[in-house]
This record gives sequence, C-alpha cells and structure tokens, in this order.
Amino acid sequence: MPIRRLPPLLVNQIAAGEVIERPASVVKELVENSIDAGARRIDVAIEQGGRELIRVVDNGCGIAEAELALAVAPHATSKISSSEDLEAIATLGFRGEALASIASVSRLSIVSRTAEQSSAGLIESEGDQVKAVRPAAGPVGTTVTVRNLFFNTPARRKFLRAEMTETGRVMDVVENLALAHPQIAWTLQIDGKERLELPAAESVGDRILAVLGQELAEELLELDFSEHEIALRGMIGKPAIARGTAKHQRVFLNGRIINDRSINHAIKEAYRGLIDPTRSPTVALFMEVDPAQVDVNVHPTKAEVRFRNQAMVHGAVLRALRERLRKADLMPAVEMGGSGFGRPPVFGAMDSSGQVRNPATAEFVEYFRRLDPLQKGFVYSEVKQAIAVEAPELLRREAGQDGGADQAPMGPGELLPAVPAEWPQVRAVSEILQVHSSYIVTQDEHGLVIIDQHALHERVMFEQLKARLGEGNLESQRLLMPAMVEVDRAQMALLGELKPLLERIGIEAEAMGPGAIGVHAFTSLLFERGVDPVDFMSELLEKAVSRGVNDDPEAALHETLDMMACKAAVKAGDKLSAPELIELLKQRETIERSSNCPHGRPTSLRLSLKELERQFGRS
Ligand code: ADP
Ligand code: MG
Repeated sequence: MPIRRLPPLLVNQIAAGEVIERPASVVKELVENSIDAGARRIDVAIEQGGRELIRVVDNGCGIAEAELALAVAPHATSKISSSEDLEAIATLGFRGEALASIASVSRLSIVSRTAEQSSAGLIESEGDQVKAVRPAAGPVGTTVTVRNLFFNTPARRKFLRAEMTETGRVMDVVENLALAHPQIAWTLQIDGKERLELPAAESVGDRILAVLGQELAEELLELDFSEHEIALRGMIGKPAIARGTAKHQRVFLNGRIINDRSINHAIKEAYRGLIDPTRSPTVALFMEVDPAQVDVNVHPTKAEVRFRNQAMVHGAVLRALRERLRKADLMPAVEMGGSGFGRPPVFGAMDSSGQVRNPATAEFVEYFRRLDPLQKGFVYSEVKQAIAVEAPELLRREAGQDGGADQAPMGPGELLPAVPAEWPQVRAVSEILQVHSSYIVTQDEHGLVIIDQHALHERVMFEQLKARLGEGNLESQRLLMPAMVEVDRAQMALLGELKPLLERIGIEAEAMGPGAIGVHAFTSLLFERGVDPVDFMSELLEKAVSRGVNDDPEAALHETLDMMACKAAVKAGDKLSAPELIELLKQRETIERSSNCPHGRPTSLRLSLKELERQFGRS
C-alpha cells in the first residue's frame, strides 16, 4: 500500500481510541469541561448504559456562538496557549481533543450560551459531517448531547460490556468527580430515574459522607495534614471497613482522580498490620500540590501523573495516614442486628433515607446491585454477622449464668493483683473475665469490650520484638545440644542467604551433614515462651523456600516477626491467671495498633452501652 495522509475523520477516530474507550470516558470528558467552565450545577443523564444517550447540562460560562465550530475541531482549546502553560496546568482539560474525538464516533449536539449572548447557539455533527451553527433556545451554560456512541466504529461497540457494567462505570466517574468538587451540585439520571442527587456541600467531609453514605460516618476518620508543599485532606476508613477491591480507595490530586502506584503503596504501608494484606482500605484522599511539581501530561486520560519529588509525596501520604490511624480508636463496634426489644428484627438493610429494603424483593435486588462494594459490604458486614451469633453467648456468660467456671482458678490465700489506676472503668479484677479460656471480657468507658487473647498477645509480642530489633539483634540463648532440623535440598540451599536474617533474630544455625541443619542458639524470647526450635526453623525454611528471601528483606523480616509473635503468644484455650490477665491488659494500653493483630484481624470488639440499651429495650 502506498503511504498516504489519513483523512481527518480517521485521525480523530484513532485519537478517540485513546481517550474515548466507553460511555464513562465520554461522561468524564464532558463533565470535566463543565467543571473547567466554572459550573455550579451539573446534571448528567444516560440511557442504556450510555450507548443510546449521554447528556451533560451545566450552568458554566458557555461557548460563544462564533467559537462553537472550533470547540469540536481537533487540537482546539481555550485552556492553554503556550508550552509554558503546559508546565503548570490548572484546568482538568488542556489537550483540546475530547469534543473532536467524541464527535468523530457519535451523533453530537451542543447548545451553548454565554452571559453576553441573548440567545444560544446550536451545533450538530455526525461523524465528520458538521452542520452549520444555528440559533437555539437555552439558558446560559452548555448542554452537550451524545447519541449512538460508536455508531460508526463497530469494533469499539463490540468491546462494550453489559449495560449494567457500563452504567456502573458512569456512576463511578460521576461520584469521583462529585467527591472532588463538593461546591458543585450534581444529579445523575439513569434511564429517566434520578439515581444521585447531591446538593452543593459545605465541605469535602460532607460530600464524602453524602457519596459514601452517612451510615459510615462512625467508621471514617477525618484527615487534615500538611507537610512541605503538600496538603492532604479527606477521610480514611477504619480497618473494619476494608474491602476486597481497591475501588473505594480514591486518590485525588489537585481535583483530578489519579492512580499512582507509589501513593497506593504508601496507603497500603500505612495500613500494614491493621488489615489483611489482600484487602484495601476505604480512602478518599485529596492532595493539593503545586501544579508545577507534577506532570499530568503523561497519560491520555491523565489517570497517571509524574511527581517531581516522588519520595516526598510517598513519605507525606504514609506519615499522614499512619499518624491519623495511630490516634484513632480502631476497635470495631459490635451491632447485634435487629431493632431491639419489642420490635421485630429488621430483615434486610436500611438505606440512607432510613427506608428498609427487604432482600426478598426485586426492589432490593436492584437496590443492592447498584451499591458500590463498600456499601454492599456495609449491608452484609461480615463482622456483624459473626458477632450477632457470638455476642449473646458471651453476654450470657458474663451475666454469670455459667457460674464463672472459666475464670482462672485462684487459691484462697492468693493476693489479688491491683488493677492499674489508669483504668477508671475497671475497678476490680472481678471486672476482668476470661471465657472459654480464649476471650477476655472487660469494660471501658463506652461499654463492654471483648478481646481475643491470642490476637492481642500476638500484637503485643510483635511490637515488643520490633522495638527490641530497633536496638540491635535479638538476644539469643545457647542450646546445650544443637537442635537438629531435617531439611530438603531447596531448604539447605537457602541457609546461606538466610543467615543475616537469622542473626538479627538471634538464631545461630549451621549445616550438619547433607540433610540436616543444627540450631546452636535460639531466640531467648522464643525459648522462654517454650517454642520448639525445630518446629520454628522448619516453618521458617518452608516459608523462605515458597517466597524467596531477598526480594524484599523488610517484608521477610516482618513476616518472620509475625511468625515469632504467633508462636510465642498465648493460644486460644490457654487458661490465664488473674495476674496474667492484668499484665496482658496493661500491655494493651502501652503498645501501638493494639486494635489489630499483625495479620490485620481485630484483637478487640466493643459492644457499646448504647447497643446494649437498645437490645434490652431500655432506650
Ligand atoms: P479541552 O477541554 O482539552 O480544552 P475539549 O475538546 O474538551 O478540549 O473542549 C474544547 C474547548 O471547548 C474547551 O477548551 C472549551 O473552551 C470549550 N468547551 C467545551 N465544553 C465546554 C463547556 N461545557 N462549557 C464551556 N466551554 C466548553
Ligand atoms: Mg475537555
């Protein structure tokens, strides 16, 4: 084929391939234009997942009639004019491509009017057929209507997903932009039904709650942090509302949603040890950085950015979140479901308007379907389900119906240890109860606290080990006879690489023949807690083989400490004496992150007085 210049329509369609992937991308581009135009109100409507129709109405500055034709021309923009402007972009758009791209793959019409004009102008196009601008009726602002998206690019159309999926993506886009722009009032209509209505909000916090759901207010922590030239605001979720997908982890940079690996890493790091590593926290993080410090022109949809000083941004996010989590009361609350004494239990879920939805109805199915996973998680919270079963049993025992048979045995002459004075709510040892040799039940100023003794002790051990490691290698205890660990070839091959790690944790081990490793010295703390060196080493070697040693030494050390903490901690089923109970609770007060074990599971749950009153019909 001879080389030739491509016709403009084809050029635009190729460009559209990058920016306009699906209806949600059209919505994003149109809405961003409305925001750039200074709109105070934006109404979005879609039909059939956006394939049939997308309409965005705004009350922004409008496009002058004389410029309407230019607006849909490629590489035409009012937002930048020189390459210096590219250095510090203050608008969401700047490439001048969106309208031209959309026009090339749809039937587009724009009605727009500026404050200076007495009537609006209308421009219509279909593929590359642009009609002459005509006068039309309309208020100040812009209405863009996109019909039959991809009507002339069947390949693209084939890639669209089910209508519901496309609708879901449009909702995500609108929600995200609405989060970033609380001062704007928004509505979203789907197939003629109002699905989102957000009046202009006073603050970012108000908007976050309006979007995520007021029900989550108690589970979200407000963030307000600044360091160097970075300001971070928003809300971050307590570990209890972490979920299986990263969809509810939203990061905005100067009003634009971004997906940045290094920031995502910092978030994960901040929650390390508070949630299961396979889950993601709920985060709505708004970063303000001097636009000159970022390059947003590295990705066609601008979802990826480049920071001048990546390390500084990473550090600020990590510190901000860590500090906030450290200050928070992270103990999950127990809610027992039902609506309390004398009223039938609510079977179903309450939506934000307080209306109860019955899961048996089609309406509920529809309602549930359009929730984002976070809200779904709220409706079917695993924590609640589990506790609804467990808690009444624990309460029954606490009420003494069990004769306190599980309490630690105490000789008649034994002196009761004193409860530390800092615990005003727990006045006597009798207010600390061990049940089923596994859980500790006590109280704090808010209500009843149930503690998983193993999980808590694991966290205590973990923090102590970490603190000691900060001062140098862990203390070690020489063994009278080496403990012999049988190993396979792969494990033996790793011994050399493992040496530095072993030395740090106070273990001295050497090959003794082809199939055995001898442990000559063992971590004192593990030794004192009766951990078997052979078991411990076997497990350590097994883990090292399956994961490799040197990929990430920090992670390997963390995992090893985890294992040590787990082995050294008291187990479920261990009877604890009163002094031991007190000691454990004392340690709980002094360590960080006592709310969760090193794997991220909660160590404690609280059943509030309020919830008790509700359940017993006292309120
Ligand atoms: P960009 O946003 O990158 O400038 P677009 O193709 O999205 O490119 O838009 C082209 C131009 O049309 C914009 O620069 C702006 O001047 C004008 N425009 C588009 N949408 C609107 C709107 N809703 N209100 C006012 N002006 C608009
Ligand atoms: Mg634009």
